[in-house]
Amino acid sequence: MISHTSLQWQSSDWQSILQTAIRDSETLLQAVGLTADQVDAISGEAAGFEVLAPGPFVSRMAFGDPRDPLLLQVLAQRQEIAPRAPGNTDPLEEQRFTPVPGIIHKYHGRVLLMSAGSCAINCRYCFRRHTDYADTIVTPARLPGVIDYLEAHTEVTEVILSGGDPLLTSDRKIDELLSKLEAIPHLERFRIHTRLPIVIPSRITPELCQRLARSRFGVTMVVHCNHPQEIDSEVARAIGQLRSADITVLNQAVLLKNINDSVMTLEKLSTELFRIGILPYYLHTLDRVHGAAHFSQALQDSKRLYQSLQARLPGYLLPKLVSEIPGSTSKTPIY
Ligand SMILES: *Cc1c(COP(=O)(O)O)cnc(C)c1O
Ligand code: SF4
Repeated sequence: MISHTSLQWQSSDWQSILQTAIRDSETLLQAVGLTADQVDAISGEAAGFEVLAPGPFVSRMAFGDPRDPLLLQVLAQRQEIAPRAPGNTDPLEEQRFTPVPGIIHKYHGRVLLMSAGSCAINCRYCFRRHTDYADTIVTPARLPGVIDYLEAHTEVTEVILSGGDPLLTSDRKIDELLSKLEAIPHLERFRIHTRLPIVIPSRITPELCQRLARSRFGVTMVVHCNHPQEIDSEVARAIGQLRSADITVLNQAVLLKNINDSVMTLEKLSTELFRIGILPYYLHTLDRVHGAAHFSQALQDSKRLYQSLQARLPGYLLPKLVSEIPGSTSKTPIY
């Protein structure tokens, strides 16, 4: 692992860490001791999707390894702009399921509330890499419409904060939103889908844990970790704090070619997650988003890999292998 003198994040709060995150391919390559040619790097601008990689995540990359699984998740590469790369810009047809701006309501009983318009890391394979969040997020002006919708839909029992990364929202704003939701009697559960506990673990503040702990809701946090190398002692500590606040912590990962497409890696991912207090939830196949085709694995290979994984893990450490098929009433199990 790298010992950085240039990345001063160790004793900073999460906002400063985010502010000093790496935002271009050159600096990222310098930090890991590689040249653009070794990894076919291009600028985020050329790829049409900014590079964004915060210090704590970069510090877990191996120095001088062009195949490092963390580096390849965040570095813009020439393959993204291959002339006939398949995929489209709204693969899940989320536009269709937006009853009021700020909400995606596709599945029975639960809605996504889009509470932040950016992330703390830009994952090259992201299915929302072409999303214009200006149209989709809950702004203060849209919040009354969102609350009205939730009040009127008594079949909804769970609100899921998504985005972007909802933990980019300040603790104060999360508190305000949560209080409004808690006033709606038929809501029972509250969930946050976030990559921040993995990417900038210090985002898990005592204030956030205390607020979630005193909610009347059953609270779940679904983190997003694709490779065991993303887990270090800081991540373990953050998850420990969530667990002490009685929050259920689950993980979703994306099956990515050349990143985590081996039984050994996925097995280790599950056991490492469990060691720090997280249960594996979903293993998603890649959505067909434009610019990410080089991460895609043939479905037959994914099924074979999953079968081998199943033969090695206890049932409770086996994530569900799923796809998102637009128009379905749930994620679709693949195997
Ligand atoms: C994935 C997703 C959910 C949550 O699905 P679960 O199976 O409950 O985890 C809810 N709404 C939308 C639109 C989703 O894409
Ligand atoms: S954190 Fe999630 S939403 Fe944000 S870029 Fe990565 S995959 Fe996409």
